[in-house]
Amino acid sequence: MSSSVEKIKERLGIVEVLSSYLKLEKAGSNYKAKCPFHNEKTASFFVSPDRGTYYCFGCGAKGDIFTFVEEFEGIEFIQALPLLAMKAGVEIVPEKRDSKNERSEKEKLFNLLEESASFFEKELGVKNDVLSYLEKRGLTKTTVKDWRIGYAENDWRLLYNHLTKKGADPRSMLAVGLIKKNDKASGEPFYDTFRGRIMFPIADNGGRIVGFSGRILPENSPTDNDTQAKYVNSPETEVFHKSRILYGFDK
Ligand code: ZN
Repeated sequence: MSSSVEKIKERLGIVEVLSSYLKLEKAGSNYKAKCPFHNEKTASFFVSPDRGTYYCFGCGAKGDIFTFVEEFEGIEFIQALPLLAMKAGVEIVPEKRDSKNERSEKEKLFNLLEESASFFEKELGVKNDVLSYLEKRGLTKTTVKDWRIGYAENDWRLLYNHLTKKGADPRSMLAVGLIKKNDKASGEPFYDTFRGRIMFPIADNGGRIVGFSGRILPENSPTDNDTQAKYVNSPETEVFHKSRILYGFDK
């Protein structure tokens, strides 16, 4: 991908790109404008066509055409890339090295999370007490189904055993935070992260499951000695980037 980026930069001058967003004024060998990233009356935003960069003396904003488009449009690099590529008439060629492996590695993680979501859904289906608790809390059957709400049995290794039977390896399960390592010298090496919890799958914008939020079931929560957190969430992982996820956005 980096070669595409270089090609785009070669073909698109920074002045050309920025002038579709700003009114640029010539200032010697550079250009200046009123900064789009902070409020100002006199121009302190400078663009250098030679270097292909911009710098604002007012707020310190700086970068190249990519950072500019990202920040101006409020989008991520991955979205700015096709936008600028189209402008430049450059085809985006994904880097060959490792990308296929990386993709299949991620695919594996997504499958694991999807399998777990179905597993939790099925578990909930046979838990009448949990279902009636949800109903009492005002969740209709349709809501439960649409949001794929599930249940993680109060058991140390139910999910782990299920996924192992499906051929998953502990390394992947750890990578998405579904299990944890047992730090004690004796006993089983791993245990389920979510136990005795109502499970809310968290999906990315494309609807793929990337993590879970598990809410403790009141009956599994010791009231006198409240050591268990009300909610346990998946950790930040390779597929779960919390800052980029808005719960329910895919819906
Ligand atoms: Zn500024």
